[in-house]
Formats: sequence, C-alpha cells, structure tokens
Amino acid sequence: MTAPAATITLLDKLIGFDTTSCNSNLELMQFIQDYLQDYGVNSELVHDPALPKANLFATIGPDIDGGIMLSGHTDTVPVSGQNWTRQPFQLSAENGRYYGRGTTDMKGFLACVLAAVPDMAERPLSQPIHLAFSYDEEIGCVGVRHLIERLQVHPHRPAACVIGEPTTMHVVTAHKGKIALQVQVLGKECHSGMAPEGVNAINYAALIVSWLQNLALEKQQNGPFQDTFSPPFTTVHTGTINGGTALNIVPNQCQLRFEIRYIAEEDPHQLLEPFYAYVQTLREQMQAQDNDCDIEIHTLSEYPGLATPENTDIVILMRQLAQSQSSDKKINFGTEGGLFSDNLNITTVVCGPGSMEQGHKPDEFIAAQQLTQCQQFLQRLINHLRV
Ligand SMILES: [Zn+2]
Repeated sequence: MTAPAATITLLDKLIGFDTTSCNSNLELMQFIQDYLQDYGVNSELVHDPALPKANLFATIGPDIDGGIMLSGHTDTVPVSGQNWTRQPFQLSAENGRYYGRGTTDMKGFLACVLAAVPDMAERPLSQPIHLAFSYDEEIGCVGVRHLIERLQVHPHRPAACVIGEPTTMHVVTAHKGKIALQVQVLGKECHSGMAPEGVNAINYAALIVSWLQNLALEKQQNGPFQDTFSPPFTTVHTGTINGGTALNIVPNQCQLRFEIRYIAEEDPHQLLEPFYAYVQTLREQMQAQDNDCDIEIHTLSEYPGLATPENTDIVILMRQLAQSQSSDKKINFGTEGGLFSDNLNITTVVCGPGSMEQGHKPDEFIAAQQLTQCQQFLQRLINHLRV
C-alpha cells in the first residue's frame, strides 16, 4: 500500500528540518505558516520568551467555541550516539516504510494533518478544526505551556483534542504522569588514605539510589494498581549517576537523576514527602561531619497523567472515526494531553499513526499503511464536521 502522495511530499519536507529539541524550530514553523497561507489559513506563532522557538496555533472553520484541536510536537529526539544506516534528515522509502528522524514521533502525523488542510479549507465546516503544534515536548512538555497560556485567554475553546502521538491509530484515553528530579550530593574531599575524615558524596548518593529502588519495589509489590497501564503500577527509576574524580580522593560531589511515572491514583508530591524526609536525615548526618555538606534537589520536568473518561461522546466519536473499537490499548509514554485536559478542560485522546516501537530509535520509520489510515481518519473527521 502506498501512502497519499501529498502526505509523503510534506513528510519529506518536515523531516528535512533538523528540529532536534536543542535546535530552533522557527524555519519549520515558517514553512508551515506559508503552506497554511496558500490555503487561506491564518496562523499565529506563540514564541518562547527566551529561545528561538515557537508554537503554532491556527483555526480553520467558524470562530466559535467547540470543534476539534489536532495537536502534535515539532521537535524530535537527537540522532547523536545512535547507529543510523540511513540519512536521518532525508526521507527514504523501502518496502512500504518511510525512514527518517521523526517519521513516527511525530512528523508523520503533522504531514497527514497538513495534507488534509486543503480539504478542511475547501468547504464550510459546522465546527472549527484547530491546529496546535508545539516545541520542546521531548524534553518534558516544556514548550506547550506557553501555548496553553495563550489558549487560556483565547475567546474560543476547543471541545476536544487529538494528540497524534504514535498509537497505531488506536484511540488511547490514559497515560501515566511523570516527574523527573536531579539530586546533587555535596560532600567533603580528602586523601582516600584518610577516608573517615572526608564525607563521601558517592556513598550518600548510593543510599539515595537504594532508597528509591526500595520505593520502586514497594510500588511493584503493593501498588496501588491500575490495569489500564503496563506495568500497572507507579515506577521509580534512577537513570544517571556521576560522581568522584579519582580513586585516591574521597569524592566531594555526586549527581543523580531519577524519575517517577505514576498512575492516576497517586500524587507524586505526596509520594516524595518521605523521600524529602529521608534526604533531610542524610543531610543532617553529613553536616554533623562538615557544615558545608549538602544535598540539593530540583525538579527537571513534570507533566500530569491523562485520564479521560471512556464513555464521553467525544471518545465514542473518535473511536468511530478512527475505527478503533478496542479500549485496551496501552501506551508507556507521556504526552501533552494531561496539560490540555487539566489546564484547559479539553477532552483529550491520543491517536496517531505509527508505533512507539519505532520512535526514538536509529532508522526510525513509519509504515505507509499507517499514514493512509491516519488520512482516512482525518477525512472522516472532516466529513463529520461539514455543514
Ligand atoms: Zn512524541
């Protein structure tokens, strides 16, 4: 099966912009703005106050409350350190697959949406279709917060949002929330031959890692459990640790990063209360030896989970349009959906082409058949909203 030509032309164009999260996305946004303008669609850029990056918002159809917002992020994860056998920023095709960084996560969805714009703009719609394209999603749903602030003062509010993250076009209504933290342990250095005179930052960091692992095991064994997720409990994981300079020096610093991915029932801040209490006891122990010792904690990123009720009209409609009747599809990644849902009260689902099996990996690809399925979904959506 071959995907529609217009979608492939657009996907080729989008992949060509290297919008790794560390880069500007303004050139890509300019391309999208010009493209939309060709079909008479005005769009607004909501700029980052400090960085050369922006969100894009556009409305097609009547200026009224309601309608559907199609949402996706324009940034991608890096290719550095990955063993690509193809050009990551140039679309290539083979055996019904399209390869390139972001094909699945999530420029494939953006290409499908843009390819459907001529159709959206051609005839009057009874309700608006909004486009909301963000930046810096991959580093903790950072950029979209500025768009949300903008939408909070916008005169009209969309009724529903489809986040086009890869779900193989299943309609997904829930995912876990996440909080990521960094811990900096500041000890006191000395010659290793006199180790008891120093305060070993790595030893204290190890106690913290071990405490977190005990919390992880406790969650795994005792829950709470939520069957909509796999694994069906809150996970706690330390991802990086760095400390010390040489074997014959008692290390004066050690830094670690950990995250908690939590189910709807849990409040991450409540979960962290005993953690902060434990860290305080360690801090006091360290400072009893040397007053300059400390343990500093700061939040790297945080986004809420998504928990959209199954039986709402919008979810039922989306399942019909996507021809996705199963309600047991699970995703193990976060989206901007919880932010739209919590801050703007927009009924949000996740539904997009491709599979996260291929996301974030070298030789990322999307199946042509997935793009076709997404186009068909958008076509049904447009027909549903026709006057
Ligand atoms: Zn994504």
